[in-house]
Amino acid sequence: MTYRRILLKLSGEALMGNLGYGIDPVTVQEIATEVSEVVASGVQVAIVVGGGNIFRGVKAASAGMDRATADYVGMIATVMNAITLQDALEQIGVPTRVQTAIAMQEVAEPYIRRRAIRHLEKGRVVVFGAGSGNPFFTTDTTAALRAAEISADVVFKATKVDGVYDSDPVLNPQAIRYQSLTYGHVLAHDLRVMDSTAIALCKDNSIPIIVFDLSVRGNIRRAVMGEPIGTLVSNATPKGQGAV
Ligand code: UDP
Repeated sequence: MTYRRILLKLSGEALMGNLGYGIDPVTVQEIATEVSEVVASGVQVAIVVGGGNIFRGVKAASAGMDRATADYVGMIATVMNAITLQDALEQIGVPTRVQTAIAMQEVAEPYIRRRAIRHLEKGRVVVFGAGSGNPFFTTDTTAALRAAEISADVVFKATKVDGVYDSDPVLNPQAIRYQSLTYGHVLAHDLRVMDSTAIALCKDNSIPIIVFDLSVRGNIRRAVMGEPIGTLVSNATPKGQGAV
């Protein structure tokens, strides 16, 4: 396999399935199954989960709520997703620990970097909840931060599309999917991969990002094996279709 320790970023919406809000248990079970397969092959898996299926700070702030307060609510929403994911993983026999950046010791461990690494070394999945613990940040940035902290080999950014396009593939049927891109190109062209803070953190720490479609069965395993799915964002000279 190409990657030994991965940081998987799951948006809250990834857990929503076809529902308009909240958590779809079937979808969560499917994700857990995919994760269990790569764990079984010896890959260390850390997960940062978002909260957009429940609450988004920016949206609440635009409706008049204090932004920092709204962001704390958003971070707490991610903990619900983290604990649900932990349950789904443990139901199928994958030992999992949730660590939160806002202490909730009755339900999860506090975030302790060295302890997280120890869990990974023991083959446990670690799910990071409550984002970075700071308002005005996102769980994408948290994913980049935690990846750097735990020395992950790669960030897997799981999405609903099969990579990064030069324009919106829904609006433009001629849109080209990039096989690989540099961080610089993503930042310069404001491509919607992850937010710019997350991209800059990955760039500074040379952590590659793979953007891929989570709904295709087996894609996490393919990405771990280094198969060219989705779009790779790195410092490497781009190659393949749409390389820039
Ligand atoms: N959030 C935050 N700081 C963080 C991470 C998240 O304040 O470090 C809040 C923010 O309000 C955000 C919400 O948590 O809207 C849910 O996270 P995000 O929008 O990143 O989730 P996703 O889009 O991945 O589902």
